[in-house]
Amino acid sequence: MGLLSQGSPLSWEETQRHADHVRLHGILQFLHIYHAVKDRHKDVLKWGDEVEYMLVSFDHENKKAQLVLSGEELLETLQEKGERTNPNHPTLWRPEYGSYMIEGTPGQPYGGTMSEFNTVEDNMRKRRKEATSLLGENQALCTITSFPRLGCPGFTLPEFKPNPVEGGASKSLFFPDEAINKHPRFSTLTRNIRHRRGEKVVINVPIFKDKNTPSPFIETFPEDDEAAKASKPDHIYMDAMGFGMGNCCLQVTFQACSISEARYLYDQLATICPIVMALSAASPFYRGYVSDIDCRWGVISASVDDRTREERGLEVGPLKNNHYRISKSRYDSIDSYLSECGEKYNDIDLTKDKEIYEQLLQEGIDHLLAQHVAHLFIRDPLTLFEEKIHLDDANESDHFENIQSTNWQTMRFKPPPPNSDIGWRVEFRPTEVQLTDFENSAYVVFVVLLTRVILSYKLDFLIPLSKVDENMKVAQKRDAVLQGLFYFRKDICKGGNAMVDGRGKTTGSTEPAAEEYALMTIDTIINGKEGVFPGLIPILNSYLENMEVDVDTRCSILNYLKLIKKRASGELMTVARWMREFVANHPDYKQDSVITDEMNYSLLLKCNQIANELCECPELLGPAFRKVKYSGSKTDSSN
Ligand code: GLU
Ligand code: MG
Repeated sequence: MGLLSQGSPLSWEETQRHADHVRLHGILQFLHIYHAVKDRHKDVLKWGDEVEYMLVSFDHENKKAQLVLSGEELLETLQEKGERTNPNHPTLWRPEYGSYMIEGTPGQPYGGTMSEFNTVEDNMRKRRKEATSLLGENQALCTITSFPRLGCPGFTLPEFKPNPVEGGASKSLFFPDEAINKHPRFSTLTRNIRHRRGEKVVINVPIFKDKNTPSPFIETFPEDDEAAKASKPDHIYMDAMGFGMGNCCLQVTFQACSISEARYLYDQLATICPIVMALSAASPFYRGYVSDIDCRWGVISASVDDRTREERGLEVGPLKNNHYRISKSRYDSIDSYLSECGEKYNDIDLTKDKEIYEQLLQEGIDHLLAQHVAHLFIRDPLTLFEEKIHLDDANESDHFENIQSTNWQTMRFKPPPPNSDIGWRVEFRPTEVQLTDFENSAYVVFVVLLTRVILSYKLDFLIPLSKVDENMKVAQKRDAVLQGLFYFRKDICKGGNAMVDGRGKTTGSTEPAAEEYALMTIDTIINGKEGVFPGLIPILNSYLENMEVDVDTRCSILNYLKLIKKRASGELMTVARWMREFVANHPDYKQDSVITDEMNYSLLLKCNQIANELCECPELLGPAFRKVKYSGSKTDSSN
């Protein structure tokens, strides 16, 4: 989840003392990169996915599933046997926030040919197999977005008590510091977010009110003042970074051919984030309760919200200690489009560091990119390592990355690292991780294909960014995929707006018109509706028909698109819906929104069986999840 430096982390006070230094040099580092590679073009499409995993242990006798705190050792072995032994090893492994987490990516990025789409799933399977082979007995590598009993007593193996005392990193009533990855970056982030904010983080997720759920649902925390004040009735209260960053997701990064193509893709995909989030919804349970949301996004957002009360606008009167009122957490949706065609849709108030903005303009950077960077740089560095204070700004970028990589937004615009042959990249970050490699491949292939289609057909999805934000809120609600209405652009093929010349300049009108967009269901957006909207899947299908693709790859792609199509129409369930039904039908469930250890155990056991193809799950995957051999015709007429 970001830059990993080795060394000794500074205390919060010292880190804060160096905040201006980090920002100053971070900007100089960005300028070096920008001037060196701004005209770089003709980079080819390359892309890669990142899958985050949890390590789960099953106690079959006591019917209990726990998170195993062995991520660091597992990572060490995987890297030793993998990338350190063989630079061409097919998988790469990285640490993640939880000591029970690990992240896997393909060893080499995928290239631009269609046949690469047919290797994604195999590579994900390799990853699962490779890591699983190193686990202990009755342990499994699970791709679940949120662990249902995260933060409940005894949820880790070995078990630890939370450390709500002074000196702890989280000071959580529920989440022990031992569940945080041992690399000092992670506990330091945790501690410093809390210090900067001036209190523990506060996460309140609405509880799902079932027949026997107490109403109002109230938990009391008499032993903890902060918790007593912060917890809300009818909500599941959580108080640690681990409740958010301890969740898993699926990300995709693309290399664009040039900076202007990267900016165009960044904007277009930003509008797709809420749609794919709702389609991938997979996290309905928190701290042992059934919640009323289906996605992790808002939980992580609150879990790393380091803004002070003043910055959050909770103190009346003029600012005393801070520079800005800031409307969003560091983990949130993007606040501005980057391409010129996006400019007229930038309708969100953008807080920016004015000096940095002016400096960037003076250096020849255009308004849109300058305000983007100046907006990221309103944040303080959260960690700093003693050995990494004084850097060579022309050849290093740690200070830039320090701020950049702790702005966890729906999309990330990534300048090339200094002196590398990597181009301008864009990262798509909202997707919830799915149970199986098949589903994860499907979401990844869908998003990557969409970028191909956006570029080939010069599509334009842009709507006012404030409407995308409204979509983000809707997307996280329970069953948003079927019940939510989302603002979406009606005419995406006009081209006029999206026509981009070499420098990202556009032609077209300057004012967005209200009738450019309408409220649509996910089904309409994905599958289309006669006379209303053509649908993304039909557009992808027609693109595919015009492409030379070998039969096997075509078959795989069509299977992936079928999954997306059916999830959008409701013919198949999202993971979140399926998990809700599983719990609702569990013999122990008392319709009181409580997930017991035994329910947690049987749910995860089932998830693991599905992931390892030991049982089928047609409600979730349809009948076609095992690779159906291609039958010969170019398009699949069965659906
Ligand atoms: N686990 C985080 C999420 O679910 C992402 C961390 C990262 O940026 O790698 O969004
Ligand atoms: Mg990650």
